[in-house]
Amino acid sequence: MNKSLKIIVAIIVFMIAIGTTNYGRERILIYEGVEHVYTAKDVTIDVNNDPIQPDGMAPVIINGRTLVPVREVMESVNIQAQVSWLAETQTVVIAREDIKIELRIGDSYAYVNGQTIELDVPPILISDQAVGVTKTMVPIRFITESLGYEVLWEPDTYHISLQGEIYDEFGLLASTSNLVELIPTIEIPELPTALRENSIHVKKEIPQEIVEFTGYKDSFDYPLTEIIEVSSNEDESKHYIKAASSMSSVNAVIWDNKLIVDINGADMEAVPGTIRTDKSLYTDAIRTSQYDEEKMTGRFVFDLKEKTIARDIILNRDRTEIEISFNEVGLSEIIIAQDRQGDYIELAGDYRNAMIMRMDTPKGLIFDFANSINLIGNQRFMNIDGQFLDWVKLAQKDDSTIRLSVGTGEHVDYSIEYDEEDNQTRIVFEPLFFEQLTYDKSKNDAVVLPKEAGIALSYDYFNKEAVIRYDKVINSIRDDEVIHIHDTKYDTIELLVENNASLVRLHGKHIYEHTIEEDENFYYIYGTKPKDIYDHIVVLDPGHGGYQPGAVYYGINEKDLNMKLMEYIYPYTESNTDIKYYFTRTTDVAVSLGQRTTLANDLEADLFVSMHNNALDLKSNPAGVHVRGLEVYTTTGWEKSATEVEFGKIFLEKLRQAMPNYPVRAIKNNNKLYVLRNTEMPSIILEYGYMTNPDDIALLQQDAILEQLAEVTEKAIYEYIMNK
Ligand SMILES: [Zn+2]
Repeated sequence: MNKSLKIIVAIIVFMIAIGTTNYGRERILIYEGVEHVYTAKDVTIDVNNDPIQPDGMAPVIINGRTLVPVREVMESVNIQAQVSWLAETQTVVIAREDIKIELRIGDSYAYVNGQTIELDVPPILISDQAVGVTKTMVPIRFITESLGYEVLWEPDTYHISLQGEIYDEFGLLASTSNLVELIPTIEIPELPTALRENSIHVKKEIPQEIVEFTGYKDSFDYPLTEIIEVSSNEDESKHYIKAASSMSSVNAVIWDNKLIVDINGADMEAVPGTIRTDKSLYTDAIRTSQYDEEKMTGRFVFDLKEKTIARDIILNRDRTEIEISFNEVGLSEIIIAQDRQGDYIELAGDYRNAMIMRMDTPKGLIFDFANSINLIGNQRFMNIDGQFLDWVKLAQKDDSTIRLSVGTGEHVDYSIEYDEEDNQTRIVFEPLFFEQLTYDKSKNDAVVLPKEAGIALSYDYFNKEAVIRYDKVINSIRDDEVIHIHDTKYDTIELLVENNASLVRLHGKHIYEHTIEEDENFYYIYGTKPKDIYDHIVVLDPGHGGYQPGAVYYGINEKDLNMKLMEYIYPYTESNTDIKYYFTRTTDVAVSLGQRTTLANDLEADLFVSMHNNALDLKSNPAGVHVRGLEVYTTTGWEKSATEVEFGKIFLEKLRQAMPNYPVRAIKNNNKLYVLRNTEMPSIILEYGYMTNPDDIALLQQDAILEQLAEVTEKAIYEYIMNK
């Protein structure tokens, strides 16, 4: 049986198997010199649930194997492999990370990292007559399995589902899955390992003499020019030295944390002595002087803030302007080594503030350092053979972020230490160790704690921090231990002893509501996102508080009025099971506007209601004393504005019914108000009355009135939410 006949038979078998309802559109495909009528249903593909849509050529099933256009699928954003084509040998090379797959057109043998593997279907060139394209088609299962994907074929829908790690456009692991299982290593590899003898050290020397522009090399008799201006850009990261005519000789040197720029033949008469650069992130000041009278050298000394600043000096074409620009901190040195404590990575510079993520397959950690440039270039160190370290990769992730990816074999813990004197950051890798605590991913992310004493849990919504406090100091909780979790739920779990009690602090990635279960020996602490528990969430925001009284008139603080209103609403919120209320404050404390809106946004609330009372500046506008009445503030022209106005109408209708004589001004809009502008959900400010108006303040001083206003507010919220 020749090959093309085999294929036709295969397609016929398929057509029978899938029945008449599953016929796809008819395609005329030419491959291996033969025309084929192809009628199987179209195959669809997704990677981690994101569909891949190769345009031009749809996948083709041959001999029960799905072939896909190699470049379109392998280089898609979902897979991010690199495809190269070697024309002479008709070879396709697919590479990602440490995996290299080589296939030849028509060849049933492929090579994965040099190892020979036999294929059911070789890669072939296929022309699709209808769309008029010819593509190199390769077997998708073989390639994606070689790249580490799990491949699922859904026969009913002709769908291929690929599950695996997500890679970014640099072919680096982009994000971590929520499948991280933190289980402490039972067998900790013994020290030392080969890394002790074979440490890695990469350093980019930043030349001391960084620049020299000399037009008159052999002469000391430099033609004289006049420096007419020294200026800076807005953030003082760039500086410009302008001369009246060409500058003959410019030298720049880095020395002792200073950048020294010398211009020979420069009259500095017009230049101020010291220029402060207070806005600059890179320099403290520029000091200038007529340094050398003989050569008439003008000197500019830039006092640098950091030891590893990336910098650039450009002299323009007609030599009349020098541009000196400073960039973010640059990474110029990395050391991967081992000492008696274990493996560590040392970076030159201050890299304390990293965004850290955990990877599960392969196991390891990702450190993203913002505001930094990788001066030593992309690096990959494989087969490191440390106690835990397997491999380390360093890359510029985007314009201003360096990514350090570390493969560790087992999940490990780490600590970051910064040495101010040497300006060095050291990441030390340690075994994961929790004797006294279990973080159990299989039990719905339960934090399991020993039942050695009674516990109480308190929660700080603003810091997303739960504190579990034991009645006393218990034996199994040691002091001062931080366990780095970095999964989708928690950042860290901290153990400490404070005021004669053992404490466990859970630093969450989100706001959680907590439940505690217990059995004979353990407490199980579960955190759940409010949005996953409650159908409706409303944030009530009594304005001002603490040292911020708001308006103060007739001896009354606005913050207290706002709080009284909230207190009258509170009983309704307690008894109402349809809506879950959160409060930006429940006592007389100062809360920033940013904290208020962040809370509402983090909670993914359905409505934000801010409670205030108004006032006018009577000094500039004495007639303002007559202005009175309740106002509802909304945004205007935004997506959420219409629903805010809708709430305002419900509120005013409820108010008219309950308190027909209460003075009302209007529903107003103002997009400049912080809490309205910075909340992602419909948000309202209620100004119940004017504290500058004697009649309004007389009303606001009556508890019965405040009680009614509170009831109206609660009813309006209820109606709005339930009818939404
Ligand atoms: Zn106010």
